[in-house]
Amino acid sequence: MPETVLAATALPLTNLSEDEILFRDNVRQFAEEKLRPLVKEMDEKGIFDRGLIQEFFQLGLMGIEIPEQYGGSSGRFFEAILAVEELSRVDASAGVIVDVQNTLVNNAFLRWGNDEQKRRYLPRMASDTCGAYALSEAGSGSDAFALQTKAELKGSDYVLNGRKLWITNSKEANLFVLFATVDASAGYKGITAFVVEKDFPGFTVGKKEDKLGIRASSTCELILEDCKVPRANVLGEVGKGYKIAIETLNEGRIGIGAQMLGVARGAWEYACKYAQERKQFGKAIAEFQGIQFQIAQMGTEIEAARLMVYNAARMKDAGIPFVKEAAMAKLFSSQVAERVTSLAIEIYGGYGFTKDYPVEKYWRDAKIGNIYEGTSNMQLATIAKLVLGK
Ligand SMILES: Cc1cc2nc3c(=O)[nH]c(=O)nc-3n(C[C@H](O)[C@H](O)[C@H](O)COP(=O)(O)OP(=O)(O)OC[C@H]3O[C@@H](n4cnc5c(N)ncnc54)[C@H](O)[C@@H]3O)c2cc1C
Repeated sequence: MPETVLAATALPLTNLSEDEILFRDNVRQFAEEKLRPLVKEMDEKGIFDRGLIQEFFQLGLMGIEIPEQYGGSSGRFFEAILAVEELSRVDASAGVIVDVQNTLVNNAFLRWGNDEQKRRYLPRMASDTCGAYALSEAGSGSDAFALQTKAELKGSDYVLNGRKLWITNSKEANLFVLFATVDASAGYKGITAFVVEKDFPGFTVGKKEDKLGIRASSTCELILEDCKVPRANVLGEVGKGYKIAIETLNEGRIGIGAQMLGVARGAWEYACKYAQERKQFGKAIAEFQGIQFQIAQMGTEIEAARLMVYNAARMKDAGIPFVKEAAMAKLFSSQVAERVTSLAIEIYGGYGFTKDYPVEKYWRDAKIGNIYEGTSNMQLATIAKLVLGK
């Protein structure tokens, strides 16, 4: 990628400002030095190292867009995208922890939190509190607004009952942006967002999933049994949770695009290196045109995915409508990640199929890009709707 720092007009999308280069290089160095040595063990055990999460906070990666007055970095959304890409190049689980915190949870507080909620929660989110975003349930995934978790107002508290499924970060999180309905008969207009703290009575983190990929990222069920949530913890307006969910996920998708871009890059870099080392027929396999073309194709697709992800992020920061571009970036980056990581295994030959080499993990980690924060079919539906004006 060209590194030249140019004036701030009509720049190529991949040009970064001096601040962005510095930020990206810091994250890259951290990922190489601190994260990479722990990746294999965390994947095997299915547990993310808590010390690393503390380091994410110390590096300012958990409150990138939180204003300095609340202890955050006062950064831009684009920086969050760079962080997710760089971390995911080494480990997609690290990428998603930072992604959910910034693009979903902090984002929800920043856009819909009132002054008191911001004062109470943002300093924690920036310094030591991991967050999670709880929308999905067993019966409501793509059809998210069919959720069944109920919230009933009793005095000064809402009483929540129901179960959430697939919630990323839930083992590590102390704070949950959680969606429930105050009136099931009102359909999506009953959906309301609540801020739930882990130690609220009636709240339990349930079974942890044993997954194919992003194994170190925790994915758990949440159980709400007469869970008391103060009325003051309604985020935004009662009945407007659907809007919060739609709009946070629109931004979150660019983050998943960045995660998949990082995954593809990580696998591609390994494949390029290996192709130059591995000898068959008396020469490095990179000497064969068949391998060269595969590597060229992978690089081209990664570049296209990067342009889409960066463009969507820059559009978001510029205040330009970006929903279609975000859906396209997520859809395409997930597809690229799957193709590139699969080819990386093939370039490694039999070795790539074993856990002694790093590429099979990238392939396992790539699969989730097509599923969470809206499946590929749901991205296609969004894009089609916007293209066709329906
Ligand atoms: C590892 C992991 C982490 C997750 N993290 C979170 C989280 O932090 N918070 C959270 O709230 N959720 C989370 N999820 C849930 C995730 O967002 C859902 O799994 C996803 O939205 C798909 O829902 P579903 O699994 O119920 O699949 P379904 O909705 O049942 O879809 C099954 C299939 O049907 C297709 N389909 C469904 N409807 C249509 C349609 N109208 N047109 C065409 N095709 C359709 C889908 O594309 C898919 O191929 C996570 C999931 C996983 C696996």
